[in-house]
Amino acid sequence: MEKNRSNIWEEACKQLKGILSGDIYDRWIAVIQCLELTETTMRLAVANDFYKDWLEENYFPMIRKAVMVVSGKEMDITLEVDSACFDAIKEEPEPESHAPISLPTLGLGSKKPNHNLNPNYTFDSYVVGPANQFAHAAAMAAANSPSRTYNPLFIYGGVGLGKTHLMQAIGNHIAQKKTRAKICYITCETFTNEYIEALQNNNVSAFRKKYRKIDMLMIDDIQFLDGKQRLQEEFFHTFNTLFESHKQIVLTSDRTPSEMAGLAPRLISRFEWGLVTELGKPDVETRSAILRKKAELLNLNIGHDLLDYLAERVSSNVRSLEGALIRVATFMSLTNQQVDVQKVEELLHDLLDKESQAAISVDIIQRTVAEHFDLRQSDIMGKKRSKDIAWPRQIAMHLARTMTSQSFPVIGEQFSRNHATILYAHDQVSTKAESDRSIQQTIAILKDKVSKNAAKVLS
Ligand code: ADP
Ligand code: MG
Repeated sequence: MEKNRSNIWEEACKQLKGILSGDIYDRWIAVIQCLELTETTMRLAVANDFYKDWLEENYFPMIRKAVMVVSGKEMDITLEVDSACFDAIKEEPEPESHAPISLPTLGLGSKKPNHNLNPNYTFDSYVVGPANQFAHAAAMAAANSPSRTYNPLFIYGGVGLGKTHLMQAIGNHIAQKKTRAKICYITCETFTNEYIEALQNNNVSAFRKKYRKIDMLMIDDIQFLDGKQRLQEEFFHTFNTLFESHKQIVLTSDRTPSEMAGLAPRLISRFEWGLVTELGKPDVETRSAILRKKAELLNLNIGHDLLDYLAERVSSNVRSLEGALIRVATFMSLTNQQVDVQKVEELLHDLLDKESQAAISVDIIQRTVAEHFDLRQSDIMGKKRSKDIAWPRQIAMHLARTMTSQSFPVIGEQFSRNHATILYAHDQVSTKAESDRSIQQTIAILKDKVSKNAAKVLS
């Protein structure tokens, strides 16, 4: 689901879930329904007075704080009894009240903007570092003189690295300067669904008109077009019409145009007409700066030491980084406690495990195993067949297979062996370990050492 449509209540629930015990969460929080959400108010409902009283007495302050942390502001929250709403929910598996609720738009008064952008995704709130400075500069240029610099602007990069944010920042910038501009932001998935619906309802001409009339088109996650021929055909014409009438087009994707194997060559070439620019993973300084900015925007009182620590430990992407910050902040505000590094490790253990998991490489495994057996890494990678080297080497191959997500051939390359050798070593070690406790122990110790070394690499 698009980020700007995500439900504040659902996000708040996630926070509460991370803090309360599962049983308490299921009993008291999971039963609450969010009836309505506006810019400043939230209406919650429960099935009867008993729930209402208990929640108000025990969990309401916690709920209020979780909502505040997630939404970034104090909201007026009311809790009411609404048995009708619960009956309806029981009958209807997908009731209206479950529909996603847009994030409230900040500072726009009662005037409804003629676009669907998340007002928080601006250039102001976007932190620039070495990994994103080119993409950022290109986005600024496109925002300042739409269709005259890079058209289309094609931004690609991994999950959670800020593609949607940067794209919407362009839209928000233009919307502010040209209030009448017809700006369209849409995910490729929604675009696809609209098209299919139009086909079903014999309404394709209305669909075409809609997209060919706008001043700026932003399509998020365009990799979704990959392999969908008919949709590509349709998009090709929309693209041409907009391009020829000098309308700015911005696209994001998780890969480059030429990496989309199922994309028609004429679309690939059009996507490359303007500028193709990459968003990389931010370095540790940028991650710290992002956390400081977010903490400031959310008005969180967290020491810089702790923010720097989080920035060091969470390196995979900005979305996880933000998740870590919100979790720590929620805990602090709910318990009124400051936290230390140990507490942070406890709060974020699942996330940190995932981070160090991602950092485990064949190289780290080879080094760790070599060190453990008092060998050199070159012995592990080399050709010597003496038993005191061959056995540790097989263990390293086994660990490479079990501790990373790499395939046998890829691991093989890193040991200068073919995939069959790795497969054989993996089976050998597994079989021997089954009946030999001391081998099991060695493997357990080595796994532990590898994880620790991977965590060190992150910090
Ligand atoms: P993507 O679309 O690449 O998956 P998003 O644009 O949704 O990533 O970014 C994920 C989260 O990280 C968003 O909340 C966004 O505001 C934040 N973010 C990413 N990059 C930056 C940055 N450079 N500065 C500030 N916030 C960022
Ligand atoms: Mg995105």
